[in-house]
Amino acid sequence: MIKLRNVTKIYEHRELPALKDVSLDVQDGEYISIMGQSGSGKSTLLKAILGEVEHKGNIIFTDEKDNLTKKIKIGYVPQKLNIEKHMPTTVFDMFASCISYIPVFMKKDKKIYKEIKEHLKIFGVDRLIDKSIGDLSGGELQRVLIAMATKPIPNLLILDEPVSGIDKNGIRDFYQILNRLKAEYDMSIILVSHDLELANQYADRVILLDKEVIKEGTPQEVFESLEFKNRFGEL
Ligand code: ADP
Ligand code: MG
Repeated sequence: MIKLRNVTKIYEHRELPALKDVSLDVQDGEYISIMGQSGSGKSTLLKAILGEVEHKGNIIFTDEKDNLTKKIKIGYVPQKLNIEKHMPTTVFDMFASCISYIPVFMKKDKKIYKEIKEHLKIFGVDRLIDKSIGDLSGGELQRVLIAMATKPIPNLLILDEPVSGIDKNGIRDFYQILNRLKAEYDMSIILVSHDLELANQYADRVILLDKEVIKEGTPQEVFESLEFKNRFGEL
């Protein structure tokens, strides 16, 4: 579905690459967890897939018959978001304006309100629909953003450290939701997380990144590897 070949990125005025010769295949419906220390190129890799950073090497999308395709919908939840405190926009307003097929004059439509509320409910945040974005906690905001990124359901969902500011139970719920979405819709997921155990509980494959792919395999294979232990210690 997605093929990365020798993706290399050197940021301007930098000597060392942020990504070096990364080659990777992501299958339909596969859940890949990307791990690596701070500065190891995780966010850069995600942005390269999103087409947000120029790079050397190729990233191509293919369909089931291995033909090149451009028709892929990517949902993205960024690591950082600049939301101003006391921003008056409500969750509903933000959500409605992000669903591009809804014309502005229809935003207050009851049906759309209901539809958005139902979708927020999957992530346990339907009660926030009329709240101002600026009043949400970190965890609440993350869930709203994930709800937005999955409507309509994307082919690929990219999440960059999505669970900061959520407590342990919340994190567990969150990964269960992801796993359910993946199973129900055959959606691929690429996730960057610092939360070693929970993030990888459902992962099909773990990629250990340190500018280049240092190790890849099942969660167990990666956790038991020297490459992993050298960086993160024993689990
Ligand atoms: P991670 O997400 O794993 O913490 P990043 O992909 O954010 O790592 O960064 C990888 C490296 O690239 C770091 O050394 C970082 O300082 C550098 N970098 C990231 N973004 C930029 C940028 N816009 N300009 C210059 N250097 C950058
Ligand atoms: Mg990052």
